[in-house]
Amino acid sequence: MNLAGQPRTSSLPLTMATTFLSKKTVVTDPPEPALNLPPTAHQTSFLKKPKLGSAKKRKRDIPEGLWIKCPKCETMIFDKELDENLKVCLKCNHHFSIGARERIHSLVETCTFEEMDAQMISVDMLGFTGAASYKDKLIANWKKSNLKDAVITGIGQIGTHRVGLGVMDFAFLGGSMGSVVGEKLSRLIERSTEKNLPVIIISTSGGARMYEGMFSLMQMAKTCAALAYHAKAKLPYISILTNPDYAGVMASYASVGDLILAEPAALIGFAGPRVIKDTTQAELPPGFQTAEFLVDHGLIDAIVPRKEMKARLIGYLDFLTVRQKNGKTPAAA
Ligand SMILES: [Zn+2]
Repeated sequence: MNLAGQPRTSSLPLTMATTFLSKKTVVTDPPEPALNLPPTAHQTSFLKKPKLGSAKKRKRDIPEGLWIKCPKCETMIFDKELDENLKVCLKCNHHFSIGARERIHSLVETCTFEEMDAQMISVDMLGFTGAASYKDKLIANWKKSNLKDAVITGIGQIGTHRVGLGVMDFAFLGGSMGSVVGEKLSRLIERSTEKNLPVIIISTSGGARMYEGMFSLMQMAKTCAALAYHAKAKLPYISILTNPDYAGVMASYASVGDLILAEPAALIGFAGPRVIKDTTQAELPPGFQTAEFLVDHGLIDAIVPRKEMKARLIGYLDFLTVRQKNGKTPAAA
């Protein structure tokens, strides 16, 4: 549930469906020759009648999940190629969603990331019940995503800069912000303030986590308070918005960066378009919740394609920490 009191599913625009990976096994006939197993002797024999159901067998010869259809240009992409291209379509530049660990791997220098609070998990404080209990949902998501919660935090090195890095993952309960997300990010920001490090938070979220009620809403103030102390120490904070980024997260730490960047075509907003239309009773401009619209209207400073992100971050960090490098302590700068 987001802050507007709408179920998360209805607060997101319909176009959000295009952001999910749609894996599909190619079942064209004949199948891609390169993927066929070498024919065995009995299959090549023209004397042998083809068995009924042989087409079914051919389908099984192709490993599942090998091809992914781009939701934007409908090109079939070999998933290894997609992974090598940081989950960006090779043809139309569509940015697929990417896991937190892959994203960290794409940004930090090898073996420099020290994860913080890796084992921190949520508890079912409210005894939330529904179709499934919160506890059951947590267990299912731990297994499904191989994550303990919707954010990974730690200190790592990007170029020559040591930074506090927090990366959210939409695969864990829609990237919802509960007490663990808020606590991990607050600890990251506080540690970075102590160590005079810039903070970078890459967010993707459907909003606050409804299963934790007020406890999740309190994280908005907590993270922003930690960021205020970080800002007081004159340390830079870069917020990177990725698709989708909504509600409680957008209304707190994601929108208070000294520099706010976004990935191309990311959907960003507080409430979904339908809620806003119903509330304001006004016609909304087309595409008003896209990163491109928000750059034109001043909320976002720059759109940075995923493949350029690391180089651009190094450039921004060089600029933002230049006084520190010249021997001035951040507090005195
Ligand atoms: Zn494409």
